[in-house]
Amino acid sequence: MDQEQENLNLLVSTQIVIKEALEKLGYPENMYDLLKEPLRMLTVRIPIRMDNGEVKVFTGYRAQHNDAVGPTKGGVRFHPDVTEDEVKALSIWMSLKAGIVDLPYGGGKGGIICDPREMSFRELERLSRGYVRAISQVVGPTKDIPAPDVFTNSQIMAWMMDEYSRIREFDSPGFITGKPLVLGGSHGRESATAKGVALMIREAARKKGIQLEDAKVVIQGFGNAGSYLAKFMYDAGAKVIGISDAYGALHNEDGLDIDYLLDRRDSFGTVTKLFKNTITNKELLELECDILVPAAIENQITAVNANKIKAKIVVEAANGPTTIEATKILTEKDILLVPDVLASAGGVTVSYFEWVQNNQGYYWTEEEVWQKLEEVMVRSFNNVYNTSVSRKVDMRLAAYMVGVRKMAEASRFRGWV
Ligand code: GLU
Repeated sequence: MDQEQENLNLLVSTQIVIKEALEKLGYPENMYDLLKEPLRMLTVRIPIRMDNGEVKVFTGYRAQHNDAVGPTKGGVRFHPDVTEDEVKALSIWMSLKAGIVDLPYGGGKGGIICDPREMSFRELERLSRGYVRAISQVVGPTKDIPAPDVFTNSQIMAWMMDEYSRIREFDSPGFITGKPLVLGGSHGRESATAKGVALMIREAARKKGIQLEDAKVVIQGFGNAGSYLAKFMYDAGAKVIGISDAYGALHNEDGLDIDYLLDRRDSFGTVTKLFKNTITNKELLELECDILVPAAIENQITAVNANKIKAKIVVEAANGPTTIEATKILTEKDILLVPDVLASAGGVTVSYFEWVQNNQGYYWTEEEVWQKLEEVMVRSFNNVYNTSVSRKVDMRLAAYMVGVRKMAEASRFRGWV
């Protein structure tokens, strides 16, 4: 199959797996009709005065997939490639993540078509506040709770929380997660996605009989997830032999000096521009290694390159990095794939902890957060892994089966289907 024939639409591919998961679980067709699209999708136009005095109008989205279990929850992405279908698919994935790690949430997701790398600090503040004004009617601490995602961070969460609190005229820390610590953020939230991925690597390595010490690790992407993960792996004694950003990749068979690279990366995770000897992202994915972690963007492992993947374990820290076709190829090659909806669920799990702490007004130590996260992630891994073995399905389908069940049951009890 060549690239032209392969489906790369994230919404369509998610729908295919949701349908399969519901069929395996024995749900009727109308359950699929309910869950195949978000319940609500809001499109907003946000006029922002730029620093040069001109007004630029940005397009933003907020999708709420299913709120049968509880309020919807999920990040807001600032990226030039954001599309309506992508935001919809990402909201469905958030529902699945919440189901897999068993949080009292449904999935939501937001996005704005913009390039924050080309915007000033003040322009970003105006855009963040403008977005909250535009979506304020449909979000809230018991309705839909945003969080960081690609190219958004704790500063942006702080502006959004401030704007929402001003509109509502009371302090609303539980409106959004991923906040700075001093504004009701949680210990460990910033590195939570990477911590969750690191735990998944540990569990998967155990299943495959791989020692983490001296294992060769390749990480695509040096953003929030990729950079913290590189540090965790490096500190655990693994050899991180390859990393990359949007512009290229670095490779060293003896292991890269991660502390040095972290020191030199900019806030968008760019670091390779500083080096002369780079390889491409494509070459990076095909390196001989034990563990490969796509931690960047979608559709990176496809029918075209899946056969060339030489890792023993692939752990998806990004959302949607492997296509359905590629999932089949990797599974046939006996590569253990830990799918995105499980592997990257550490972020939303600690977001949930943050929200719980905000609601109770009592804050936990970093150790408490890590211990609770570990419990949740290991239990979830075992659930998905055991489902995959007992139902003889690949890890992605197993994760979807575990993830979809709670919202399907909740929807049924509510009498929606
Ligand atoms: N954006 C993250 C994700 O895709 C975190 C969402 C959250 O914390 O609510 O899982």
